[in-house]
Amino acid sequence: MTIRWKRIQKTTSELFPDQPINIHVTTALNNLIEFLSVEKGGVDILINAIKCKGENQVIIAISHALAHLKTNVALHDQIWETAFKELLDAYALKLGIHDLEITLKEMEPI
Ligand SMILES: [Zn+2]
Repeated sequence: MTIRWKRIQKTTSELFPDQPINIHVTTALNNLIEFLSVEKGGVDILINAIKCKGENQVIIAISHALAHLKTNVALHDQIWETAFKELLDAYALKLGIHDLEITLKEMEPI
C-alpha cells in the first residue's frame, strides 16, 4: 500500500493548527523509529525510512513524536500514552484506517 504522504501532512496540520510541522523521511536515524526536533522556527519530525515501510508504521511513528510534542514529556508515561492513543485514533478516523492497533502490536517496542 502506498503511503498517502499528502493526507498525512494535511491531517497533521489539522491536528496541530497553530504549529507548522514538517515531516521528513530519512535513512540516517540508526535505531530510532522517529526523531522530534522542536525549534523556534517550527517542528520537524524525522521518520526512519528503514523501520517504517508502510503507512501504518509511518502514522504510528508520527503519533509517537507528536505525543511527546503535545505532552511535553520525554518519558513514555501514562500522560504520553493517553496522548499517543488519542493521536492514533485521530489519524485512523481521518484516514479511514482500521488496523493501527494490530500494526502497533507487531512493531518492536518504541
Ligand atoms: Zn518516545
